[in-house]
Amino acid sequence: RGGRADREVPFAQPGSLTKVFAIASGKGGVGKSTVTVNLALAMVKRGLKVGIVDADIYGHSIPDMLGVGDIRPTQVEDMIMPVPIKGLKVISIGMLKPRKDQVVAWRGPMLDRALVQMLSDVYWGDLDALLLDLPPGTGDMAISLGQHLPNAEIVVVTTPQPAAADVAERAGTMASMMHQRVAGVIENMSYLQVPGGERMEIFGSGGAAKVAETLSGRFGYDVPMLGQIPLDQKLREGGDAGDPIVESDPDSESAKILQGVADQLS
Ligand code: ADP
Repeated sequence: RGGRADREVPFAQPGSLTKVFAIASGKGGVGKSTVTVNLALAMVKRGLKVGIVDADIYGHSIPDMLGVGDIRPTQVEDMIMPVPIKGLKVISIGMLKPRKDQVVAWRGPMLDRALVQMLSDVYWGDLDALLLDLPPGTGDMAISLGQHLPNAEIVVVTTPQPAAADVAERAGTMASMMHQRVAGVIENMSYLQVPGGERMEIFGSGGAAKVAETLSGRFGYDVPMLGQIPLDQKLREGGDAGDPIVESDPDSESAKILQGVADQLS
């Protein structure tokens, strides 16, 4: 596909009405993609027009989580059409590869090109919100994002563990080095609700609160803790089945918490 390096990134233009959120984490497996799809669907429930850019080069799992794992985007003239699913418009870095199962060993410039392509060569139309699922950590993609979308706000996802929180904090600091604002911190896998009311803190506690407090102190503005999502079998099953919990079980505790986070952001 011919990328058009000369085309401007629409969401970075002054006066753009699209709120851009990049979902970041220090390490993989903390639930970043799960949070991204559910927040996006929660915003759709509020009537917003929402797009997702799955920029997680190592674990592009957004299409699978939405049940469109093998769909390829169509192309009209030199524009790529985002895949419409559950009221969302979705593009994944996996869709830019010739084959879905191909392993990507792209270096910085290729990643940069892929990001620009997903932003500028995709026919997004009017969006109220665009959510980007970033790769974990503070690598090339985070730098490219900072360069092309300095107006993106960063949402940090972490588990409660101190080790996870420390690396999550670095992801937040990276954002501020790129002059991006950190919108808040989400704690995932916070506790397991056992029948009878007790909450078991399988992964410890306090990780997100610590990240939020440290970043607030460092940046001089309030970085809120946006919510604590429990360890939840149904949340996991919804992701595996391509039917995220915000849609499949909107009255569940997890879905309500995710909806609450989405409402704070939008
Ligand atoms: P990341 O994007 O950070 O790598 P994923 O969103 O892919 O993480 O989640 C990793 C795995 O953990 C997935 O199988 C997902 O379904 C599961 N998972 C995420 N959040 C939860 C949760 N709160 N409770 C149970 N399983 C979860």
